[in-house]
Amino acid sequence: MTPSASPVLQSVSMLSLIAGQRVSSGATFTVHDRYSGAEIARVDQTSQANIKEAVVKARQNLRKVPDGYERSRILRRAAEIIQSRKQEFVDVMALEAGFTAAESSNEIARGLDTLEISSEEAKRICGEMIPMDGNPGQKDRVAFTLRTPVGIVCAITPFNAPFNALLHKVAPAVAAGNAVIVKPSGYTPLTASLICDVLLEAGWPPELLSLIQGEGAEAGEWLLDEKDIDFYTFTGSTRVGRIIQQKAGARRTQLELGSIACTIICADADLDLALPRILRATFRKAGQVCTSIQRLYVAAARIDEVSARLEQATRALKSGNPRQAGVDVGPMIAEREAVRAESWVKEAVSMGARVVTGGGRSGSVLEPTILANVREGMKVMDQEIFAPVVTLIPFDDIDAVIASINATPYGLAAGVFTNDVNTAFHMARELRVGGLHINETSSSRNDGMPYGGLKDSGYGFEGPKYLIRDMTDEKVVTFSLQRP
Ligand code: NAD
Repeated sequence: MTPSASPVLQSVSMLSLIAGQRVSSGATFTVHDRYSGAEIARVDQTSQANIKEAVVKARQNLRKVPDGYERSRILRRAAEIIQSRKQEFVDVMALEAGFTAAESSNEIARGLDTLEISSEEAKRICGEMIPMDGNPGQKDRVAFTLRTPVGIVCAITPFNAPFNALLHKVAPAVAAGNAVIVKPSGYTPLTASLICDVLLEAGWPPELLSLIQGEGAEAGEWLLDEKDIDFYTFTGSTRVGRIIQQKAGARRTQLELGSIACTIICADADLDLALPRILRATFRKAGQVCTSIQRLYVAAARIDEVSARLEQATRALKSGNPRQAGVDVGPMIAEREAVRAESWVKEAVSMGARVVTGGGRSGSVLEPTILANVREGMKVMDQEIFAPVVTLIPFDDIDAVIASINATPYGLAAGVFTNDVNTAFHMARELRVGGLHINETSSSRNDGMPYGGLKDSGYGFEGPKYLIRDMTDEKVVTFSLQRP
């Protein structure tokens, strides 16, 4: 395998991991520095034969799954190892994901929470007693449910949260006692490789962990062809989510998909509270977060003030090289993605939109951009942009906002800033989204809470407690007591 050109990558294995063994197929793909575009590594392109071997060995070794107490300790130990190697993770994510140090640090802090919560949940997996005597003549019957691991879990993850999105799937799968096969995005295979090493060092049985590497659809579709995989947990685009749902057939899946995330500023909102959160929720990770604000609805009475203050704060953001101190907004994942988003902005302008600030591009860096005078029919309104671009939409009637949000094909998350409890509850009832955050943005997340979408944003919840529930089978056991 070609050694990495960058010294910070010397400790990262570029090989696939099949049932705990590092292997090479002979074919590789290239990973790039997101800012400069330079090649930083060549990573093994896992072969179909190696994928088959990963599944066979996982099945053969399921009896090696440690008990809940030990799984809990392994997850806690993994968190400790990551803490001690934190800088390595920061450096790797700066290169392959284009994150600033602050963005990587936040992602790591959250991933450590995910590990910690999963570690606790590993000790609490249980079923429930069933009150059989609630039916006539059943008082001598006792029943309870048992929760057992589903078996082999396959986690397929996106580029935009290479650390925490992966841990949100792998840590609950381990906590639940499953063998894990993980396939990260081809853009960000290196963080995943480091995480797998950490899990093995923490004591997870090697036969129960495989890392499948590959760009594009090939490796992913080979994984979907493996009928002995019991459960697919996926985060990524709605397009690929549909393929997974179709190919998984009757097997269980959990899908976190695309979104057009919205946040609403009502007339009574506290802007000192709202605007710093909105700025962060719009431009962090160059807007490449599924809950990044794409539509900001603002009460007409406050639109001028919001526009002026947001413009001023956005102009103060520095974009560029994520490894340079003081840079707030780094590159997008690829220059072609920045070119696509820029072309959507240009299309909107040609249809009458006004650029409040931003719109410029240098390589893979798109300036933080605010658009006004937008309307449905423009791509920036109707399709997921996944870029540092927000649209400002004035409103007079909250029910029109609810109707407008519900008319999108997505339903992941929304935020509303208001002090009116009746408005907030009305929105909680009426919005077709997986989560509504009051006096927070659409991008608010606590790693313990249930998190998932509706409609084209997917189904099922992340959050260790909730995903562990999905990653276990629940069986009912009954006893008929014989009276002496
Ligand atoms: P993507 O769908 O292109 O890729 C996601 C993963 O699927 C990658 O590992 C990729 O290699 C793999 N893949 C690609 N084609 C496949 C196929 N045919 N079969 C199986 N696997 C395949 O997504 P992305 O560009 O990496 O991430 C951006 C998308 O992810 C956005 O749409 C964003 O909204 C979404 N996302 C959603 C959430 C959420 O919580 N809902 C969180 C993060 C990202």
